[in-house]
Amino acid sequence: MKKIAFYTLGCKVNQYETDAMKQMFSKKGYEIVDFLSLADIYIINTCTVTAMSDKKSRQMINRAKRTNKEAKVIITGCMAEELKQQKTILDGVDLIVGNEDRKNIVEIIEDTFNESIDVNTCKEFWEAGNVLSNERTRAYIKIEDGCNNFCTYCIIPYVRGRVRSRDINNIVEEVKSVIEKGVKEVVIIGIHIASYGKDLSGVTLTDVVERIDALDGDFRIRLGSIEPVYINEETVDRLKKCVKLCKHFHLSIQSLNNETLKRMNRHYTVEELRDKIKLLRDNFTDVAITTDIIVGFPGETEEEFNSTYEALKEFNLSKIHVFPYSVRRGTVAEKMEGQISEETKDIRAAKLIELTNFQENEFKKRFLGKLMKVILEHREKDGFKIGHNEQYVDVLVDADDKDVVEVVGTIENLQIR
Ligand code: SF4
Repeated sequence: MKKIAFYTLGCKVNQYETDAMKQMFSKKGYEIVDFLSLADIYIINTCTVTAMSDKKSRQMINRAKRTNKEAKVIITGCMAEELKQQKTILDGVDLIVGNEDRKNIVEIIEDTFNESIDVNTCKEFWEAGNVLSNERTRAYIKIEDGCNNFCTYCIIPYVRGRVRSRDINNIVEEVKSVIEKGVKEVVIIGIHIASYGKDLSGVTLTDVVERIDALDGDFRIRLGSIEPVYINEETVDRLKKCVKLCKHFHLSIQSLNNETLKRMNRHYTVEELRDKIKLLRDNFTDVAITTDIIVGFPGETEEEFNSTYEALKEFNLSKIHVFPYSVRRGTVAEKMEGQISEETKDIRAAKLIELTNFQENEFKKRFLGKLMKVILEHREKDGFKIGHNEQYVDVLVDADDKDVVEVVGTIENLQIR
């Protein structure tokens, strides 16, 4: 029996797709082994969102070759797709499988090489069937792939192609199957889930949430990262009726300066965001609003950065994920004037990290003494079981507490202290 090992970098979509590939190889009789052990084939599902993810992907290629120099090392995922388009091969890599070829990866590997497929013309969603991850309490449900937006810093539309939405009935079937297996939280993921349905007629992300919400069972729904444009009176009005939906919205904001947003090709303004955040807060009690912010985007002046900082102070979000801008080859921003020094990016990032640490703590404090619905996970860290409430605030419970062990993997009312 051939042994195969996987390593995943990057986002939840990549993790989901690795799980799907594992299932495909397993069905064909391959034995899935740990990445650090001896295998015949190593598959690295790469990411190219930052220069750091590129570096890590290369390190894992080297590690696989060091573990077994006779093994075949195959890369797939976004960095692999970029290399494939540039017709570049890396040392240590035996085969690149492009993103659109992964649905046939077993056959491709077995046949050694494949015909290339143009990612931009691909129209189909990779229907991987019901994909089970290792997490027992939470399941990631992929509903779409690709993006039509072309933000100037982002390589994703080039390496994943345009929006392809999954059939809504298949989504519902997958959710039903994971709930039957005891999963308590389904996370709706994709590359750009707010675009769900753009290539279909008459269905939207809100329809998906409503269909899942209507299913029987004790579980909750969490939305993955969404574009601010998705938030409006109509969607909020419908979403607030979905009783299983977590009061947690991760809005991909990136900057809070209108000039920077224009250069990023992001189609909203700070004023609109202010209204959207108010709309969410008016309709969802104790809502968690989290975000991603890029600092040091080309041309970001001190004034632009300061206005982002001041707006973030005012918006008082529950968590800001801060990313120093990282040049991606082949993007519009790569060629922009006014590239910012690493030193300045680090100073700006540190300022935002300090702000978010303070705001996050203040947000968490509001739950002290309250009874909250928490899902305790099976994993343990430093003698504590880890759980999360709807707002994705970490809740730690002493793992030696017998009462705790009994409620792992269920939704429980716990008092936060
Ligand atoms: S919305 Fe922008 S940042 Fe997000 S995947 Fe599409 S192009 Fe990239």
